[in-house]
Amino acid sequence: MNLGIAGRRALVCASSKGLGKGCAMALAAEGVHVTLVARMAGPLTATAEEIRRAHGVEVQTVAADITTPDGQGAALAACREPDILVNNAGGPPPGDFRNWTETDWQAAVNANMVTPIMLIRATIDRMIARNFGRIVNITSGAVKAPVPLLGLSTAARAGLTGFVASVSREVMRHNVTINNLLPGPFETERMAATLAAGAKRSGQAPEELREERRRNNPAQRFGTIEEFGAFCAFLCSVHAGYVTGQNVLIDGGAYPGVM
Ligand code: NAP
Repeated sequence: MNLGIAGRRALVCASSKGLGKGCAMALAAEGVHVTLVARMAGPLTATAEEIRRAHGVEVQTVAADITTPDGQGAALAACREPDILVNNAGGPPPGDFRNWTETDWQAAVNANMVTPIMLIRATIDRMIARNFGRIVNITSGAVKAPVPLLGLSTAARAGLTGFVASVSREVMRHNVTINNLLPGPFETERMAATLAAGAKRSGQAPEELREERRRNNPAQRFGTIEEFGAFCAFLCSVHAGYVTGQNVLIDGGAYPGVM
């Protein structure tokens, strides 16, 4: 299927590794020029080179913290008028809510709710003017089914989910869509970190916990960043122009509900 987005420009946040990288790679495979953002320059440069070599599109890099006003400014200076915006940032640390301070809460809400909203605010009117826009927010399956220890992440992302539910309907008539992708367990560095934290708490070895989680998923495996990226690219395609305000789980069937 030709996704119909070749030549478009995408700002893909938090994209030197993991799910963001999967999205950038999949968009580039469709001929989309991508701007990548991450804090550490080394992996960012390596990923940019990998994407250029694989797909021959224009790839810009911005080494910045996307959760800061300066980082957002630098990303938007490099990609002034994205047709596609993929919002992503690192997730807050897992833990017991009794130990979280007000500063911890503010950081989580800033990274996983306010930052995507600021980037949507900065880009959406130009998308409306061009009568094309695709915004995908990477949130978490935890928004639908709570995960122990991930209260900071879940609460902040739930705020973004509520915002998207309303604004997505306001802009739909301009062919601008906003959807949330909700990852279940994907094989990334973030997963290794959450497994290590979970193992410490339960007294298991990380490898033992990893195996237990793998077995408990109906797919009996973790997702790949390629699968995640492909889904993101489809949501950014011309064919997904009638899909907005959705919270799409990609979790191997882990969510236990009927609907
Ligand atoms: P990952 O493998 O650790 O990759 C994170 C990427 O984001 C890296 O490129 C990292 O580069 C960049 N990044 C992190 N914080 C950033 C910041 N403040 N500014 C700019 N770039 C930043 O993580 P992932 O597994 O892809 O997770 C992505 C998101 O999905 C996270 O919010 C995570 O909580 C959520 N999620 C993941 C899973 C899963 O199973 N993997 C499940 C549910 C939800 P630098 O470190 O160089 O900045």
